[in-house]
Amino acid sequence: MLILKKIFQIRGDETITLASNQNAESNSTKGSSVIHHHDILIIGGGLTGLRAALQISDADLDVVVISKVHPLRSHSVAAQGGMNASLGNIPGEDGSIDSWETHAYDTVKGSDYLADQNAVSIMCREAPTTVLELEHMGMVWSRLDNGKIAQRPFGGAGFPRTCYAADRTGHNALNTLYEHVMDCNIPIYEEFFVTSLVHDNGRCVGCTAIEIMTGRVHGFVAKAILMATGGFGRIFSKSTNALINNGDGQAIALRAGVPLKDMEFIQFHPTTLYGTNILMSEGARGEGGILVNRDGERFMKHYAPKSIDLAPRDVVARAIEMEIAEGRGYEGGYVHLDLRHLGADKIMERLPGIRQIAIDFAGVDPIIDPIPIQPGQHYSMGGIDADINGVTLLTGFYAAGECACISVHGANRLGGNSLLETVVFGRLIADKIIEDISDIPKPEVELVENAVQEIDTRIEQILERTGGKHLFIIIDSMKHTMFNKFGIFRDSQRMKGGLSEIKKLQDQVSQVSINNKDRAVNQALIRLLELENMLLLAEVVAYGAINREESRGSHTRTDYPKRDDKRFLNHTITLIQDGKINISNKPVNLGMFELKERVY
Ligand SMILES: Cc1cc2nc3c(=O)[nH]c(=O)nc-3n(C[C@H](O)[C@H](O)[C@H](O)COP(=O)(O)OP(=O)(O)OC[C@H]3O[C@@H](n4cnc5c(N)ncnc54)[C@H](O)[C@@H]3O)c2cc1C
Repeated sequence: MLILKKIFQIRGDETITLASNQNAESNSTKGSSVIHHHDILIIGGGLTGLRAALQISDADLDVVVISKVHPLRSHSVAAQGGMNASLGNIPGEDGSIDSWETHAYDTVKGSDYLADQNAVSIMCREAPTTVLELEHMGMVWSRLDNGKIAQRPFGGAGFPRTCYAADRTGHNALNTLYEHVMDCNIPIYEEFFVTSLVHDNGRCVGCTAIEIMTGRVHGFVAKAILMATGGFGRIFSKSTNALINNGDGQAIALRAGVPLKDMEFIQFHPTTLYGTNILMSEGARGEGGILVNRDGERFMKHYAPKSIDLAPRDVVARAIEMEIAEGRGYEGGYVHLDLRHLGADKIMERLPGIRQIAIDFAGVDPIIDPIPIQPGQHYSMGGIDADINGVTLLTGFYAAGECACISVHGANRLGGNSLLETVVFGRLIADKIIEDISDIPKPEVELVENAVQEIDTRIEQILERTGGKHLFIIIDSMKHTMFNKFGIFRDSQRMKGGLSEIKKLQDQVSQVSINNKDRAVNQALIRLLELENMLLLAEVVAYGAINREESRGSHTRTDYPKRDDKRFLNHTITLIQDGKINISNKPVNLGMFELKERVY
């Protein structure tokens, strides 16, 4: 069992020092900017960032977290259904017991064979220890009658493998880690919006960030940076993602010359609430919920005869879209998720959050009525190209969690594997940073100072602009273009049209002005900078999707309906070269499981 020594030596009555004054002696001010010096910076206060921070702090190294929102507002807190681990607390139907190898097989098959099998095997092997480690840190899990951690069936899984805390798993996990971060006095630069990486000769030396409260640009000089900024779901309309999931980290990395990987693979979750697209967890079907169309038919039996409602998300999302397209959905485009047969007790014990959301946002009590649902954007399988150690092309720059593509999900992620990825790789990549850090020399401060001046000037220029289109009109157009042209079903003609719309929006965004000319708490300015990042990623998704002339996992081409292993059993790698998007390929790590057709 992994034991973090600091966590188990909690100093009860110590006060917590805030980041801004904790390292005051190592800060310097130049002009209106402030330069901070730290050995290790973690950008992102979600599960990945906090787990990594705890590990590094435990090694008594100088580590800080930077987050654009309070860490407990990171999207991790919204995770509902659970975290996968082959604990084997519930046997399979034939009495057999789960194993990490079966978990790995399900994950690779779920990924439509695009996941790197070495990365998958690490994640699945580490899963049971990771769940128990969280438990030892104090995380409250739901329990079976025998006291063991409860597990529920999830899509594409051969066993009930998903450990859960009712339907608030992310909430419990993030609060647990955050409490320990507080206990360990890890400084947090809260509400600091990171704008760029500073690099020199292939080496990352720091970053710049806007302190949202004052609008001041800060520079951070660091030997190592871990990017843990989460997904970019908000480039799509109809998304389950938090408003802060804009892909800043991926865009910042790409601009710094770090490649992105497999960005065309976007997960559409089958069950999001009609109207608002708030997630209705897969746990609802894991507990026995069923999908029915307008004719009252349990239609999934036609699409996945064996797994039925618990087929993987890509399969179920496509099936719902087909039902709606063929007139068996309800007007407006939805079908029903029916939980009524589970009974009030089970719904209130296992799915209390789902019930409340359905009541509050759709006026429907799942104990009495079926829930109207439709597919919506949910997860970004692609991200910053990183290996199993989180190492990227830029020395000293690491990536983990949803912003990274270590490639454990390939072309389609199984539910419950993302929370797992965040804590497993948050810890392992922190270990790699701890190992590397003594060999990394202290960077020069000048480069960071210059970068701060550049960002400062850029902000001044933005604030001086007048005219142009309204920021939110561009945001809306981007989201609708992405959902309508790069959604569940894709084809060349529609996507090419979508790409030229995105390019037009990119031209328009460079003219956008904002009415608020103040530096302090200028949310419009932050939205504009986020939009620039989102439009860059939208273009990357578009190129990747147009280029991949096959159907694999979540990427369904009506003009290329088959998987094409000859041409496309490889990762898409995107770089910016001479100011343009450049696409190339990289082989997939295979070897553990043989390639097969994917049927459920
Ligand atoms: C509604 C919902 C339910 C889910 N349920 C499950 C589930 O049950 N099981 C499962 O396995 N997965 C689930 N997922 C997926 C999973 O929750 C996420 O993939 C995972 O939590 C991402 O964690 P992370 O640490 O990578 O990033 P996040 O938790 O998204 O955190 C990102 C952090 O980066 C910071 N940040 C971003 N940009 C900047 C910037 N420019 N400057 C400074 N800071 C920045 C943010 O402030 C934040 O702290 C769910 C996702 C959603 C949307």
